[in-house]
Amino acid sequence: MFKKGIRVSGSIRFGTVGAPSSTPASGTVAAIQHTKALGLEHLEIAWVQSVSVTDKTCAEIKAAAEEYGISLSIHAPYFINLNSQTPEKMANSDARLIKAAQKGFLAGAKDIVFHPASYHGKPPEDVYPIVRDQLAMLADKLKKEGVAVTLRPETMGRVALFGSLEECVQLAKDVEGVKPCIDWAHLHARRTDGSFNSYEEFAGALAYVRDQLGEDALQTVHFHLSGIAYTDKGEKMHLPLNKADLRYRDLLQAFVDFGVSGTAGVEAPDPFHVEDALVFQATYKRLNGFAITDSED
Ligand SMILES: [Zn+2]
Repeated sequence: MFKKGIRVSGSIRFGTVGAPSSTPASGTVAAIQHTKALGLEHLEIAWVQSVSVTDKTCAEIKAAAEEYGISLSIHAPYFINLNSQTPEKMANSDARLIKAAQKGFLAGAKDIVFHPASYHGKPPEDVYPIVRDQLAMLADKLKKEGVAVTLRPETMGRVALFGSLEECVQLAKDVEGVKPCIDWAHLHARRTDGSFNSYEEFAGALAYVRDQLGEDALQTVHFHLSGIAYTDKGEKMHLPLNKADLRYRDLLQAFVDFGVSGTAGVEAPDPFHVEDALVFQATYKRLNGFAITDSED
């Protein structure tokens, strides 16, 4: 929608990472139904231990998501490391990402989120080409199979892990079919000194993504959002918003001002798993509504 000043009004769909904790029954179909009942619009399916779902269940998930109008992403297993140190570990890591993408595609998910790699103490610039080449090989394999998903390396909160904003954006530049999953809390924690927590820094990151990857990247985002605790090593644990220092209103205002569109998974710990997703969504909608009104005469 274009407004005065040729401003694009963005639209972000919010949901939880993992089934909303208040879901009354087990299974992803129930989680989709409950997501709809809560007024959320997205679900990130957490296949974080392993991918053990059948093709039949994937078809049921896809049908439910279409029926209830819920968009889906997949969080692939934690045990993925594109810089694995032995051939056997690398093969197992590859298989986990491939399976998450194959099954996620069958389930109707567009985005496959994964933790890219550990540096294993090596200089980041030495690790980058290893991760890039491994990811390029996997993306090519999926493309040849017709698995039409976007692979999303996530920005990571611990300094020992591959996954700065620059590294994830560079992967998206270098490998077709890849875009970043920007975890904003992780970027804040990764700084370890409390920085990356202002409107200027959030807007600067969005401008950087737009400059490097084009406006399309801001129209097809996938974000992770939460409060976070950190030490001098980076991420310690996710926190509820009302216990965290994250300036989330400034973050959401930056999304509004850049007309960002896409999906966002909220990773708050219980008992705020659902509540924080709703707070992010409600605050975003309020700010976005004001922006639209402000730009009209
Ligand atoms: Zn993650």
